[in-house]
Amino acid sequence: METIRQVEVFPVKVGLKTSFKIGTGFVGDAASAGDHLFVKITTDEGVVGWGEQRALPSWSYETIASMVTTIRDYIAPILVGTDPFQVNQIHHQISQALKPAVSNGHPFALAAVDIALHDLIGRMLNVPIHVLLGGKRQSKIPLCYALSIDTPVVMALQAQALDPCRHFKVKVAGEPGADEARLRAVAEAVPEAQLWIDANQSYIPSQAIDLLRRIVDLQQVKVFEQPVPSPDWFGLKRVRENTHIPIAVDEGCFSSYDLAKIVQLECVDAVVLKVCKSGGLRQCLKTAHLAEAHSIELFGSGLTEAGIGFIASVHLFSTLDLVFPPELNAPAFLDHLVTTTSLTIDQTVVEVPDTAGLGIKPDLDYISAHSFQL
Ligand SMILES: [Mg+2]
Repeated sequence: METIRQVEVFPVKVGLKTSFKIGTGFVGDAASAGDHLFVKITTDEGVVGWGEQRALPSWSYETIASMVTTIRDYIAPILVGTDPFQVNQIHHQISQALKPAVSNGHPFALAAVDIALHDLIGRMLNVPIHVLLGGKRQSKIPLCYALSIDTPVVMALQAQALDPCRHFKVKVAGEPGADEARLRAVAEAVPEAQLWIDANQSYIPSQAIDLLRRIVDLQQVKVFEQPVPSPDWFGLKRVRENTHIPIAVDEGCFSSYDLAKIVQLECVDAVVLKVCKSGGLRQCLKTAHLAEAHSIELFGSGLTEAGIGFIASVHLFSTLDLVFPPELNAPAFLDHLVTTTSLTIDQTVVEVPDTAGLGIKPDLDYISAHSFQL
């Protein structure tokens, strides 16, 4: 039996082309690179799988340092000597060693490992990851790009500069008047655009309702994501009861267990799926399936992962029926996707790879030039 011989972690700085600011604050800019963790899993026969996840502690608690030590000190010893095909058993053993508390535990570290396992298995079987998940339903996926919080004029210019993209996630800042101006400026600049508002928890319910009343005539707005702080499910319910615009949960839903509570509370119309917060591809699918059975619509997103994390989400989302193009914005924001394979992205439409595993390989020269010690 071929088993896992080695698990390696590479913390790497990846630069951003432009400044990126969301409702919880600053994400990065051209002067300050983001922290990405690359995971390499090698079998005793020398087959390699790669995973990756960006650390964004201002979004969720894990730091690049915690991700490194979680994988290096706790997860790697479980993986070494194990049959890589036993993914369910591996996840069970990890959750015994690192008990998830209330919702998910260490989901970003786990997601990077889970992606690497799926890449490895895909390469061993010579099938793409989407086949491991039941097969793609779309071969090409249009992308939604995010607009960083700025003045209305600058956000309108951001939208125009992303031409021919017509689907935007408009980040807002918890300021009803200023956010209304931002949304109107973007809607006017690209009249055929469809808009997905994301407040990243920056509102209190009454002010979120105020914003939604102000923009009641803006037909382009299709959904309002995470207006209120993540644990405030009653706040989500209050907002939802006061608007016709669908309300989506993101930071307030990390797992299928979270969604089960949310379903009972009837506080959302949609859920935002992310591999990072789910702790892996199949865990993300669990949330998706539970949502579908409760008529909660599916949106897909990420946290500006580089090419490895980006394409893992593309594989997953190609198997699902999303109601809006997924917001996977690495091609718009990152300096370099850290892959030597050129991703096929034409007019903001990405092709789902059909080669083994992820279908792409990381740029090892970039990783060694930009990695740092922890
Ligand atoms: Mg979000």
